[in-house]
Amino acid sequence: MFETLLLNFLFILLPVVIFLIFFENRPNSFNKIILIFLSTVTMVLCMTIPIKLKVGFNVDLRYIPIIIVSLFGGYKKVFPLYVVLNIYRYYLGGDGILQSFIYSTGVFILLPAFSKRFIQLSSKRRISSAALVSFLNVGVYLISLSFYFNSLNREFWTLTFYTLTTYTGMMIIIMVLIEQIITNSKNRERFLQSERLNVVSELSASVSHEIRNPLTVTSGFLQLLSESKTINHEERRYVELSLQELNRAERIVSNYLSLAKPQSENMVYSDFREEADYIKDLIIPYATMHQVEVQFCFNNTLKKRYDKNQIQQCLINLLKNGIEAMKDKGGTLIIDIFEQKQNIVFEISDTGIGMTKEEILRLGKPYYSTKEEGTGLGMLMVYSTVNKLKGKIEVESEKGRGTIFLITIPV
Ligand code: ADP
Ligand code: MG
Repeated sequence: MFETLLLNFLFILLPVVIFLIFFENRPNSFNKIILIFLSTVTMVLCMTIPIKLKVGFNVDLRYIPIIIVSLFGGYKKVFPLYVVLNIYRYYLGGDGILQSFIYSTGVFILLPAFSKRFIQLSSKRRISSAALVSFLNVGVYLISLSFYFNSLNREFWTLTFYTLTTYTGMMIIIMVLIEQIITNSKNRERFLQSERLNVVSELSASVSHEIRNPLTVTSGFLQLLSESKTINHEERRYVELSLQELNRAERIVSNYLSLAKPQSENMVYSDFREEADYIKDLIIPYATMHQVEVQFCFNNTLKKRYDKNQIQQCLINLLKNGIEAMKDKGGTLIIDIFEQKQNIVFEISDTGIGMTKEEILRLGKPYYSTKEEGTGLGMLMVYSTVNKLKGKIEVESEKGRGTIFLITIPV
């Protein structure tokens, strides 16, 4: 019994190990197919070599991959497993094909319904609820089995003990592994993002500094030139145009490259009200131009120390993106700033083109832009600013429906 137990443990480990070694860094949709395939293989292996208990019954761990895939992936992902399970069970033959079919159908209908809620749980809760589910699953199986025993004798209780402990134990082990993998990859992603920000912000700080000097000098001389009496009207117009463009360049440099450290002269201790009002007034003409309605709501009394220019720029970038996402057919841009426990929350939602999961993952990477005239620096600046305030950004988006940015800043 011990050998088959170990063998089954190996089967269960198989997808985790193979996935971890070969596929962790591949694109998303491909990963999912691989995972479903590996889980199916595990299920089939578990069914082929069940654990033989001394009391004369077989226990197999086929429901462990099914439970995990149902909870993490929902109906669509577990469907192949469900089909393969029943085909293979039919092929294996023996008693109880119908019961197995009914039971697996029950599991297939019930369990994936909890998937959405399951995914939102914390890591620890996920482990314990998966363990609970597998406990209940075996429980139901044992209760149905108890009808075959004439009396609930010692044999039955031994069986109960073994199956419950193996199932729940295995589930806990495997879930701890899966959760650790998820945590590791999240940490790695966060680390990479902050490294990227560091590199870009250092680079942009020095570049913006270097460019600002010649800009100032040039615009100074052009100003002198425009006051000169010897140039004619036409020439003065050229000089003024050049000055305007230089001003624009100066703005771009200070706005788009202001990823650098917060500047002490801009630091304030405040509740974001002034900045929010300012950008609201600034953005409304731009919104009207694109048939976008702006709804604004401010409900915050919490205060925080921040660089006001950077916050303004950060909000402008977010709102501009929202409006640009709606510029073909108009829509509503909602800006909601409120307090929640000890956090200030910025919720910015649009009804624009939305993004796919892959696109969301690429947000905030330098020079990532899907727009013809995009710079791909707007979101980078947003991430960098929020990062400096120790806040976090959550993005919810659906293609064709719109996007919600949820920025939570602790005070
Ligand atoms: P840019 O606006 O110059 O393209 P950003 O860094 O501001 O650069 O944005 C990067 C990309 O993220 C955009 O090109 C767009 O594809 C996507 N994006 C950002 N915000 C939204 C949004 N609210 N709706 C849809 N797509 C968005
Ligand atoms: Mg932008």
